[in-house]
Amino acid sequence: MSENYFKTYPNKEGFFKEYGGAFIPPVLEEEMKKITDAYYAISKSHSFISELRSIRKHFQGRPTPVYFCNRLSEKYGGRIYLKREDLNHTGAHKLNHCMGEALLAKHLGKKRLIAETGAGQHGVALATAAAYFGLECEIHMGEVDMAKEYPNVVRMKILGTEVVPVTHGLKTLKEAVDSAFQSYLNDPVNTIYCIGSVVGPHPFPMMVRDFQRVVGIEAKEQFIDMTGELPDKIVACVGGGSNAMGIFSAFLDDEECEIIGIEPAGRSLEVGEHAATMTLGKPGVIHGFKCYLLQDEKGEPAPVYSCASGLDYPGVGPEHSMLKDIKRVKYDVINDKEAIDAFYELSRLEGIIPALESAHAVAYAIKLAQQDPQKSILVNLSGRGDKDIDFVVDTYGLPE
Ligand SMILES: *Cc1c(COP(=O)(O)O)cnc(C)c1O
Repeated sequence: MSENYFKTYPNKEGFFKEYGGAFIPPVLEEEMKKITDAYYAISKSHSFISELRSIRKHFQGRPTPVYFCNRLSEKYGGRIYLKREDLNHTGAHKLNHCMGEALLAKHLGKKRLIAETGAGQHGVALATAAAYFGLECEIHMGEVDMAKEYPNVVRMKILGTEVVPVTHGLKTLKEAVDSAFQSYLNDPVNTIYCIGSVVGPHPFPMMVRDFQRVVGIEAKEQFIDMTGELPDKIVACVGGGSNAMGIFSAFLDDEECEIIGIEPAGRSLEVGEHAATMTLGKPGVIHGFKCYLLQDEKGEPAPVYSCASGLDYPGVGPEHSMLKDIKRVKYDVINDKEAIDAFYELSRLEGIIPALESAHAVAYAIKLAQQDPQKSILVNLSGRGDKDIDFVVDTYGLPE
């Protein structure tokens, strides 16, 4: 696989085997082609690479560390390690692709960034990138998520971004994508739609993956430095799948590494109470690309739910869809309760409050450690939990 893999997938039309592509209105085809061509050219240029490298180091605070969880491993067995994306500037992995997208926007002469946000992390990351580059920024967010993630709404406003409330449907991530997409269609020439994960039409799943690869490249080197070997298992939560692609991409080649993506089982695996796309979805088209999709009888995206706002999306990245089919990555689920328990366990045993999204991956690592205590497990801790503390305590209370 390795470099050959990255050259093969996606193909020129943006397909990862049967998934991906660009199912978009004709007005956008030309814009997407411009972005694709510019990306292929600019991403190889010395000035783009060195500017991004400098931003990663001096602005984002990279490399983020890999950390061995001493007390967690002692309690549950195994050797659990975390790649600390919670320590990336703005508190999650998302700034990795937002700085890349905004740098590309600057090279394309765009004036405005537009996007949707679920948990608010993508909105905050993009608002941060916009401030850094002096670009305008417009973020669409479901009203339900705005209430749940209120501090992030305030952060975006402080950073000078316009937050557009979305009031239709379930008022969460999917509706926010629809709304942001509409606004983008009004002025695609001066605007760039900065997609928040490895989803959307080509070239976004490829670009976002490439911008996130830094996570896996760093983690692999750091893990080998610390232990002298590769991790036995690599675990990450999957919403759209960007933090997971970031860390997985470095290990796809290493057949001895077991790779597992974790989706939210929410309250239960009943309609509207989970977002277990890989486990229960069927191939379909959403937001301009083909992937595993939770859908109703008519093929429309089904309602989804998770306690973690960043995971409640009915689709998933096309590359994950392919990696499932070729069986290189296994996908499994963790429910709300298990995620909340892991949220408190990591906080109390290690002094690290994880994002609820990341807590899904931690919960699975705890299960794996109990099943097979001989193994090492590398978890991508995609973000910090400050944004979730009020919601968790108000909804679930403090444990004994
Ligand atoms: C947005 C978010 C996710 C989910 O997005 P992916 O694209 O699947 O990585 C996971 N963790 C955190 C902390 C997030 O903010």
